[in-house]
Amino acid sequence: MAGGVRVGGPDLRRLLAGTAAVAAGGAVGHALPVVTASGVLRRRCWPRLAGVGAANRIALTFDDGPRRASTARFLRALERADVRATFFLLGRLLDRDPGLGREMAAAGHELAVHGWEHRNLLCRSPAATYADIARARDAVAAVTGAAPLWYRPPYGVLTISALLACRRLGLTPRLWTAWGRDWDATRSPAAIWETIVKDLDGGGTLLLHDSDHASSPGAWRGALAVLPRLVRWARERELTIGTLGAHEERGCREPGAGVCRSGSDRGMATYRVGNRSR
Ligand SMILES: [Zn+2]
Repeated sequence: MAGGVRVGGPDLRRLLAGTAAVAAGGAVGHALPVVTASGVLRRRCWPRLAGVGAANRIALTFDDGPRRASTARFLRALERADVRATFFLLGRLLDRDPGLGREMAAAGHELAVHGWEHRNLLCRSPAATYADIARARDAVAAVTGAAPLWYRPPYGVLTISALLACRRLGLTPRLWTAWGRDWDATRSPAAIWETIVKDLDGGGTLLLHDSDHASSPGAWRGALAVLPRLVRWARERELTIGTLGAHEERGCREPGAGVCRSGSDRGMATYRVGNRSR
């Protein structure tokens, strides 16, 4: 769709060109997922796709919700910390509880698209990929009243079909620079935190999960437990935690308007305690 947000353009051309280079042997169809699923390659080759933003900010993102049993707890924790985040939602779950989606949006969080089903796109045809993303996008737009900006594929596996679908649907793909490997319920909050700080730095995008829809039962408790530590860590470094839209100074688009509001005053919680020493 036409609009003020450029989804493909140089980013998409560069990504497709890079894919072709990596896949010089001919396996183009599989090269893109391999490249995008590798954190090191992603950050080096496509920092925008990985979610690298302003150095004094961190984008906090959650996948696989919404589910009231877990997501509501994250909403309360984020409210206590005065932090807004971006939630990559599954359309199927949102359809079961659109009221929860409205609560998230009303609290200032940014709602984004993770797909209708949580399925690896390598197993889906181009038509099925488009239908899945489009249906989820419409579900998010119906709840928020605004077209969502961002798309993140299940498992971080971004296919060429998904990129082309994003371009048609006005979505920008965003992955992550750091994660907590928090989908395993046997991992302690301390282990999750160690994984996070290994890669997280100013300008990064952190992936956590607010539901166990695609992970072991109760795994979300680990991510919930590390949130206060994350906020303290950011405060000590004068890093601002917020939404992806704020991270990249982009706001929500009004349906049909094709323009972006500045995200600079939305979804932000700036900390001014401590010093910059690391
Ligand atoms: Zn997921």
